[in-house]
Amino acid sequence: MAKDEFDLFVIGGGSGGVRASRLAANLGLRVGVAEEYRFGGTCVIRGCVPKKLMVFASDYASKFQDSKGFGWDYSSMSFSWRKFSNSMQSEVDRLEKLYESMLHSSGVVTFKQKAKLNGDSSVILHDGTILKAKYILLAGGSGPSRISIPGENLAISSNEIFSLTELPEKLLIVGGGYIACEFASIFNGLGVNVRQIYRGEKILRGFDNDIRNHVEICMRNRGVTITNNVQLKSINEVKNGLEVYLTNGEKEIADQVLLAVGRRPKVQDLGLDKVDLRLTETGAIYVDQFLKTSIDSIYAVGDITDRLNLTPVAIKDAVAFINTVFCAKKTLPDHDLVPTAVFTRPEVGTVGLTEAEAVIKHKIKIFKTSFSPMGNRISCREEQILIKLIVCHETDKVLGCHIVGEGASEMIQIFGIAIKMGVKKSDLDATCAVHPTIAEEIVTLK
Ligand code: NDP
Repeated sequence: MAKDEFDLFVIGGGSGGVRASRLAANLGLRVGVAEEYRFGGTCVIRGCVPKKLMVFASDYASKFQDSKGFGWDYSSMSFSWRKFSNSMQSEVDRLEKLYESMLHSSGVVTFKQKAKLNGDSSVILHDGTILKAKYILLAGGSGPSRISIPGENLAISSNEIFSLTELPEKLLIVGGGYIACEFASIFNGLGVNVRQIYRGEKILRGFDNDIRNHVEICMRNRGVTITNNVQLKSINEVKNGLEVYLTNGEKEIADQVLLAVGRRPKVQDLGLDKVDLRLTETGAIYVDQFLKTSIDSIYAVGDITDRLNLTPVAIKDAVAFINTVFCAKKTLPDHDLVPTAVFTRPEVGTVGLTEAEAVIKHKIKIFKTSFSPMGNRISCREEQILIKLIVCHETDKVLGCHIVGEGASEMIQIFGIAIKMGVKKSDLDATCAVHPTIAEEIVTLK
């Protein structure tokens, strides 16, 4: 095959693009991948990975606090953002190199520059090089949305939050979704004065209402100021920071404003003028059930298709694409019963239907408990764990499981297997508890 020809050319070196590239190369295909920023994509470079490291960093504060009741004493405690930030960036750098070296060891040809579509079977690199490909995979992901208000350019997004040179004293966060809630918890844990403003009635729209209520109360109790039913009106730069005006007439000064108002598929500057590619109503790349776009030679995976914007979903999409196109094994990407976690403090783990969704289709039984975990008595933390199961009255099948509390993300990963296998409430009842744990409540709910 000529140097400028590929069996598969992937645009985007994030979770989905890298997985597809490596799998295809391991099949002996000639594969090229272009990444305009850093290999690893949002998840590794400015998303899940550094975010989770921040969660770890911020958790120490509450752990130190809780340990006092257990006899520990810390005369002087301090946190160095600079030191942590350097460690976080080194880890991200290490992972980026690892991703690149995994691509190279699989035989994938990498291009560290922007690539655009140049036709149904051709891409053009930033330096003008034109490459031919039998198949093209669009895996360019998504980027933070912005809002159009005066002074909007003074606000940062989740792209910049990871490279702050210093910890702000006061942070205003706009939004009520995953990113807004997670960073509100992280920065609150790090000692920052955090105010989160949300345009709706209650944060985490789309989650089970009991979970939304519970996590909001817990976040408030931990020190996050949450104001619902309000929007950002404008931002002004002043001597001592950013002057922020809200739609409820309030004005306040913050050091940083974080916009966490959703993410948009990166379709702009993708060369859409060169191909007749169908877009969805939300401006994402349209794909059919097998991830094929409206052009036979072009497929798309992950956030650029704007369906379920989660890293593991992009990775599973990539596997389905490779199976379908190169292994003669038609594979439908399965977006059903995907467990997910919100790394707020306390964290949320959820899988399956919410109560509001379940009642529309089923007659249901609700099993719910909230309790104080063992250690909280001694540490004097008043926070409660919430566990909720939604069960179909007729079949006894568990339709949804929702947890708020320590370890919720780990619990929901395991429960995700059970629910995918069609676990019934009677199976949970027949399972022996592991005592004393938080998770045992899942099998002892009455
Ligand atoms: P989300 O879609 O989760 O939340 C966006 C928030 O911004 C919502 O509260 C929305 O309000 C609000 N919003 C939207 N437009 C405006 C506007 N014009 N003015 C004010 N508020 C607005 O997006 P995120 O940015 O938080 O995260 C993007 C995606 O990334 C998530 O959906 C998730 O799929 C993924 N993600 C997953 C994580 C995880 O798995 N732990 C972590 C981080 C991100 P409303 O509710 O009213 O629409």
